[in-house]
This record gives sequence, C-alpha cells and structure tokens, in this order.
Amino acid sequence: MRFYRSELAFMAYLLLLVGAAACAFWASDIVFRQFPAAQDGALGGGILALRIALVLLSGAILIGLFYFYPMIRKQAREHGQLQQMTKSLTAKSATFQHAALTDPLTGLQNRRYFDDALAQYMDEFSRIERPLGIMIVDIDHFKSINDTHGHDVGDEVIKGLANTIIEYTRYHDIAARIGGEEFAVVAPNLTVNELDKLANRLRLAVSNLAFNVGNVRLRITISIGIAIWDGKESGAALYKRADSNLYNAKRSGRNRVCA
Ligand code: GH3
Ligand code: MG
Ligand code: MG
Repeated sequence: MRFYRSELAFMAYLLLLVGAAACAFWASDIVFRQFPAAQDGALGGGILALRIALVLLSGAILIGLFYFYPMIRKQAREHGQLQQMTKSLTAKSATFQHAALTDPLTGLQNRRYFDDALAQYMDEFSRIERPLGIMIVDIDHFKSINDTHGHDVGDEVIKGLANTIIEYTRYHDIAARIGGEEFAVVAPNLTVNELDKLANRLRLAVSNLAFNVGNVRLRITISIGIAIWDGKESGAALYKRADSNLYNAKRSGRNRVCA
C-alpha cells in the first residue's frame, strides 16, 4: 500500500497525540497510586485535570483516526491521480507537437516547422556576420511518374528523395517537406558557391537513384533553386527568391541548380 506525504505527516501528528495521551495517563496513574485518597483540594483538581486531558486527547485521536485520516487519504489519492494524469497529458502533448511539425510520409519537418526554424536562424544570423541560405528542391515531371506508375510508386519516390536529402544535409541544416514533391532546406554557414556545390551533389546523387517498379528501373531528376539571405529581407522574400530561381531551373531545362 502506498502512503502519500500528507498521510505520513498526519500519522506522525497522531503518534504525537498518542504519546501525549500515554503521558497524561501515566502521570494521572502515578499521582493516583501515590495519593489514592486525594479527592478534594489542589491535588484532586490536578488529577481531575489530567483525566480530562486524557479524555480530550483520546477524543482527538479517535476523531483524527476515523474522520480526518480518511479525508486526507482520499484527497491525497485524488491529488496523486491528478498528478499522474498531468504527466500523461504532458507526454501526449509532446507527441501531438511532434506530429504537428512532422511530415508523416517522410518523417522530415513540415512547412510550419521550416518557417519557424528559418525565422529563428534569421534572428540568430542577424547578429553574426555569417551567410544563411536556403534551397528549394522539386522533382522534375513528377506528375507523369504518378500517372504512369501510380500514386504508391510516387510516394516511394518522395520517400527516396527525402532520405537522400537527409543523407546530404548537415546536422544543423533544417530539411522539410514543403508540399507534394517539393522540399526546402535551411543551410547556414555556406557561401553561395558552397551551397551551389551542396545542391549539385544532391542533384547528382538523386539522378543516380534507381527505383525498382516491376522490371523497370525508374530514375528521377530534381531542380533546385537557391538563395542567400541579404540580411534585410523577410523570410517570405528570401523564399520567393529561391522559388523564382527554382522556376528558372525548370524553365531552362530542369535537372539543374539555379542561384
Ligand atoms: P515539374 O517538373 O514542372 O515540377 O512538373 P511536375 O509534374 O513535377 O509538377 P506538378 O506540380 O504539375 O505535379 C506535382 C504532382 O505531385 C501533382 C500531384 O498529384 C502530385 N502529388 C502531390 N502530393 C503527392 C503525394 O503525397 N504523393 C504522390 N504520389 N503524389 C503527390
Ligand atoms: Mg515537380
Ligand atoms: Mg512542385
């Protein structure tokens, strides 16, 4: 049986009362034995007072034991259950928060997380003179993959690309799935040339991926738009520049990186 702290404190308090009652009994017994004939006068009054104290203490112990203790135990139990519930709710809300910021298909972060992370990085990098870049990645002619091989194969391709992005990004990069077959990465501490190199390495790795569909080996390409933060523009403006570079990459033939 588990005892709560308030119960233990109350038991200790009851023990003190029992001790006091035992002392009162002991004292009245000694005095009565010594002076069995003392009925009147100061000594008789003292014995009577000790006996009244004994009766009052016994009453206090009984009331404590049968009235207050069950009440305290009930409250302690309810408090314990409430604490348990709060704990499990906290754990649940952490799970919900994780789910709210994660893309279920790929396990990457989602758009909401990406926007928050970009804003935080911009806040941080406005104080230090280091480059902060983003890249937007989009699968070329993805619709025809869905149309030709089905939506499930399309999903496998999206997952394959997500894994390659994870493989090619560093631990402090933020990789997110922004939409259907579109991904974005916040890449801090890289100059435009370094980011361009990273994007091209990713692009080449993706072009070497092969997805087995029946007896067909399906290959894909991606286009990437990159942009480095100018230190003044908003996150949305930075994203728009990278997106218009992605559009240029598409327009100029796809399977390329545009800065
Ligand atoms: P482009 O080279 O210009 O990017 O052409 P595209 O065909 O890749 O572009 P478009 O935007 O026309 O097609 C994107 C397609 O992605 C359309 C949509 O049906 C598909 N899609 C969106 N979300 C998902 C998803 O979660 N799974 C699958 N399998 N397909 C998706
Ligand atoms: Mg596309
Ligand atoms: Mg797209």
